[in-house]
Amino acid sequence: MNEQQPEMEKLVNEISVCTKCQLHLSRKKAVPGEGNIKTRILFIGEGPGLNENETGRPFVGQAGNFLNELLGVAGLKRQDVFITNVVKCRPPANRDPMPEELSACAGYLDRQIALIDPLIIVTLGRFSMARYFPLKRISAIHGQGHWVNGKMIVPMFHPAAAPAFCMIFPFCRNTCRQRKIS
Ligand code: SF4
Repeated sequence: MNEQQPEMEKLVNEISVCTKCQLHLSRKKAVPGEGNIKTRILFIGEGPGLNENETGRPFVGQAGNFLNELLGVAGLKRQDVFITNVVKCRPPANRDPMPEELSACAGYLDRQIALIDPLIIVTLGRFSMARYFPLKRISAIHGQGHWVNGKMIVPMFHPAAAPAFCMIFPFCRNTCRQRKIS
């Protein structure tokens, strides 16, 4: 067990019983995130959907299959990266997360990022992009990496809605090679 593991487990336990926002009222299972906590690549989606709410796992179902496929194109597996969301409980009927829900949940993601300390953060969709580029439109900057506080932030469309998501992979491969992390 590495030194981050106990802290990540503590975080998972907190998220599982969290009542900081109204999304806890309709969840079946919170979805803290999963993957390799020693990875250099973190993916941040929006929020759990129907299948994620049932299983407690991020990016399962159709969008998850697409993500797995595209990770494979880059020579990566899910266990090579960490995948999480900006909100850890499902917004009813897959509506957009509300500002107060994003705000209530932000501390968990902050702690995950501090623990994992990734070099590359791929944001999937508008809400995770807005953590780093609040004034930008995703259609204008998807696939373009920018250094923010020592991390390469790569905004991408959500895989459920984005053939252009594929643009990440050559970029990720090149960055990893340059940094000798893959
Ligand atoms: S979405 Fe986040 S803040 Fe809201 S109840 Fe779930 S874990 Fe807590």
